[in-house]
This record gives sequence, C-alpha cells and structure tokens, in this order.
Amino acid sequence: MISTAELSLNESMLALDRAHLVHPVANWRGHEQRGATVLQSGRGAWLRDAEGRELLDAFAGLWCVNIGYGHDSVVEAAARQMRKLPYATGYFGFSSEPAIELAAKLVEIAPAGLDHVYLTLGGSEAVDAAVRLIVQYYNSTGRPRKKQFISIERGYHGSSSTGAGLTALPAFHRGFDLPRPEQHYIASPYPYRNPAGRDAKAVIASSVAALRAKVNELGAENVAAYFCEPIQGSGGVIVPPVGWLKAMREACRELDILFVADEVITGFGRTGPMFACDAEGVSPDLMTVAKGLTSGYAPMGALLMSERVYAGIADGTPSGAVVGHGATYSAHPVSAAVALEVIRLYEEGGILANGQRVARHFESGLQAMLRHPLVGDARSRGLLGALELVSDKVTKERFDPALDLPDRLAAAGYRNGLIFRAFGDGILGFAPALCYTPSEFEAMFERLQRTLDEVL
Ligand code: PLP
Repeated sequence: MISTAELSLNESMLALDRAHLVHPVANWRGHEQRGATVLQSGRGAWLRDAEGRELLDAFAGLWCVNIGYGHDSVVEAAARQMRKLPYATGYFGFSSEPAIELAAKLVEIAPAGLDHVYLTLGGSEAVDAAVRLIVQYYNSTGRPRKKQFISIERGYHGSSSTGAGLTALPAFHRGFDLPRPEQHYIASPYPYRNPAGRDAKAVIASSVAALRAKVNELGAENVAAYFCEPIQGSGGVIVPPVGWLKAMREACRELDILFVADEVITGFGRTGPMFACDAEGVSPDLMTVAKGLTSGYAPMGALLMSERVYAGIADGTPSGAVVGHGATYSAHPVSAAVALEVIRLYEEGGILANGQRVARHFESGLQAMLRHPLVGDARSRGLLGALELVSDKVTKERFDPALDLPDRLAAAGYRNGLIFRAFGDGILGFAPALCYTPSEFEAMFERLQRTLDEVL
C-alpha cells in the first residue's frame, strides 16, 4: 500500500497507478510493468503530458472530444449547474431543467421519428438499455419469441454484459462466456477485403444478402433486431459505401426486425452531418449516442426511440407498474448541462461547420499516404478515417503479429508528438477533433509520415 502523502508527481504517481488503478481494456500484468502515460492538460487539438511534452491529438481522446479541449463555456455550464443543483433523480416523477431541454434538443436534431430519449452514463449503457428495452418491447406487444439479435463481425457496441456480445471482437469475448446463444453475426462490409470486391453495389448486395440469410436461418419470427455502426470504429474504421446504411435499414423493415443505429462514434459531426444516418436520410427504430454528445467533458450517452417502440412498451406496461430500467445517475443534470453547451458549440459556435470544411484536408492527407509502399488502404468519411498497413500491397497480407507493429507505431507516434490509435491488425485509426485547422492537418501528416518512415 502506497501512501498518498508521499505522492510527488511522476515516479510516485506512476507507482500508484500501477498498484491501484485498473485500466479499461488493458493487459493488466503488462500495464503493471509498462506503467501509464499521464496526460495533464489540453487546449484545442493539443495535449500536454506530465513531462511537459506537447502532443497533437489525432484521436480526440477516445473519438469523443469532438469540440477539442479547453472550452471555458462548457466548464462554466457545468459549474453553473453544479452550484444551482448538482443532482436530481429522474425517479418518482422528478426531473431537471437541463435533462428536459437536452431530451427536446436531441429530438430536434436527431433523424426524424426518434421522439423519445433515455439519458445514460455512456455508450455501453445506452446499448444495454436498447437490448433490454427491445426485449421488453416484444414481450409487451405479444411477440415474445422475437429474442435473437444480429450484429456485424468486427462491430463494437460497448462492454456491458449484453452489449459485449453484440460486439464482435475476440478480446471482448475471451473468458467472458460470450457471445450469448441469442447473439449472431453477419460479415462486415469491409470494402478493402470483401470477397465480393470493392464495388459499392457488390458490397451493399453482399451485406443485404448476408442479413437476409441470417434472418431466414433464425426465422424472422424469432429475430428482434439488427445492430450496426454506420461506420465500424473499433473494428478498424471500416467505411461502407454510401447507400449501404439505407439498404440495411430497408432490409430490416422488409424483414420485420428493428434497426438500431449505434452512432456512439459517428454522431455529432464525426462523419460530416450531425449524425451519419442524416447523410442517407435514414431513420432508425432506435439510435444510441454518447462520446461527442458531451465531447468527453462529462459522462453521458442516450438511447433514442421511435414512437412505435416507446408506445409498445408504454402501452404494454400494466397499469401502475414500472418499466424497471434506470440508474441513480440517469439524466444527470450536470452532464445534461454540459451536453447542451457542447451542442450549442457544434451549431452556433460553428464547430460542426468547421469539421465539414476541413475534412478535405484530412481525406487528401490520408490518400497521399497511399504512396507509402506499405499502406494498402486509406479510407475516411468526414473526420473518421484509417490507414491499413500490409506487408504486401498485392496480396494484402497483414504484418506478422510477432513484429508488434501497432505498439511500435503508437510509441513512435508519441515520440513524434502525435496520438492516434494503432489497432492489432495493422490498422491506424484517426478521429481528429472538429476544431482542427488546415495547418494542424499539415502537422499531423508530417508527424505521421515521420513515424511510418521510422518504423516500417
Ligand atoms: N458503441 C460504439 C459504436 C462505440 O464505439 C462505443 C465505444 O467506443 C460504445 C458503444 C460504448 O461506449 P462507452 O465506451 O461510452 O461505454
């Protein structure tokens, strides 16, 4: 046990981290040995670590700090609400002004038809609420057999007990007895590696056919819902062709299963419009959001529901009974006040428009990296993108995992003052804040080029 009285920044701080703080999605023993990198402050797109190193954040924290760091108006909104009323429960018929305003604002900006909002603590809890309430919906509307869930290989839907099984990444299943028997997957659209080829029509047709085949195999009368990310994030930033989302939505309608758009990463301007669904005029039955909702300044997510789903549950609940889903911090007023100010900055503060303006610098920078002999694919939409590294561009063969390339690239990037995400299979993910300037993109790609040159 290390005493906090002995704490002086750095060595003792790092020792405390190793001794006591369990990190999310980490190799626990590996972390004890390697220790943490302590970040101390941020402004705009830039971070400063405990050693005083300036770093350009090309990943918006964890694809969440869409407005960038250091917005005083958000800090003031939180402080004002904390002073006025730091907490109000939504139980027993109570409510708070920021929660009400936020729900109304989300309905206003969300795709049409999503009229009901349940405010959570983050994305995993929003997905978990979606799963539980979909089960409730079918039980309430007299179709209790519809309990099978379909999601996509390489998808990520958080790490709750229900959502981690919709997630189709092995690390989230290993040792957790997942997926559950009612959780099923279809192939990722993955244009770069789709056996049907990269052509948009072929990719879309392959996904629609896969969904139909899976629903037929399970029996439509047994299938509850299809969950998808409009662009798969944690699975390696897999960007399906334009038209894919709409086609999958239409297929769900025909197959009589609920279509759930998980916009936890893609929401709030990350791909250009406020939501990725907007680009294709898609209205999902349910939509999950988080991350950019508060830009990471406070924890919050949301589940948005159509009238059909809401009314199915509401009308199926026996008179006087409750829908038993909720938490102490549901609709937290401080997080709601933060979200309202963050959304104001996207709209009136011009941050959404800036993200749309600068996206071409991001796209052209990524495309230019294709000249590198080991960059097999460059893909992006808006300010969400990736480079896929291969040992052979013709065969698209991945690098030998024994080379430990992702860790070496992330470390070299850090030494060069750049933060990005290096995925296990040689994919580098980028999600710069929407406040980036063209010269920050120049700095980003100059640092990235140096990093690739050093490691590859
Ligand atoms: N859904 C998607 C698409 C995500 O990318 C994430 C997190 O990265 C989640 C859900 C889970 O959100 P959270 O980490 O806020 O629980």
